[in-house]
Amino acid sequence: MVDIFDSENGRKGKGILFVLSSPSGGGKTTLAHKLQVSMEDLALSVSHTTRKPRAGEADGADYHFVSRKRFQEMIDNGEFVEWAEVHGNLYGTGRKEIDDTLRKGTDVLLDIDVQGARQIVGTFKESILIFILPPSDEEWLERLRGRGTESEAELKRRIEGAKQERLAMMPYYDYAVLNDVLDDAADALRSIIIAERCRVSRR
Ligand code: ADP
Ligand code: 5GP
Repeated sequence: MVDIFDSENGRKGKGILFVLSSPSGGGKTTLAHKLQVSMEDLALSVSHTTRKPRAGEADGADYHFVSRKRFQEMIDNGEFVEWAEVHGNLYGTGRKEIDDTLRKGTDVLLDIDVQGARQIVGTFKESILIFILPPSDEEWLERLRGRGTESEAELKRRIEGAKQERLAMMPYYDYAVLNDVLDDAADALRSIIIAERCRVSRR
């Protein structure tokens, strides 16, 4: 049991690591941002990536955009708690940022793919894994098309890959949330986070 609570100061010590993952277009980025603005003591981790910024994305806010060479150096130096190649680009979660935030007693939310989630389970045994499910393949494809960030061929590739992924990975997850109506999915996620914070074993 971890000492995270005292009656005078409330929560202190070790924060909880929440991992949000889904197939591409499942809605995890949208939901993570919604939670970040509506919940206290929840920090959204900013990943490193070799992908080029999309219109409107800012370095240091959406991602730390780095070169492949820099990313490889970070791998070699053990600076990632997890990293993965997703759709041809490298993505990774910085170790220092996560450790520092959790140590302060702030919970951390990771928006990462299923390969990354699998690595996190091995390292952070007490992490909570939440899978976001799109309501149907048709709606999922429509949302991805609406986002307008991938070609039609790329969309088909993502959807096929994600179906395999979903079947293989489900046993690793603690919760599954259907992202049909956005506000309902955000409410479900908030409930999970609040319930996990109340667990006797964490206090
Ligand atoms: P991910 O981060 O999992 O790849 P996004 O958060 O980018 O997915 O969502 C994909 C697209 O679907 C975005 O255009 C987003 O605005 C839209 N979207 C997400 N959730 C919903 C929802 N519940 N209803 C309608 N559109 C949604
Ligand atoms: P996008 O390029 O659309 O922002 O993200 C593509 C995929 O990479 C998404 O599934 C997203 O969750 C995942 N991703 C983003 N950051 C990380 C990370 O740090 N690690 C891993 N493993 N996946 C990530």
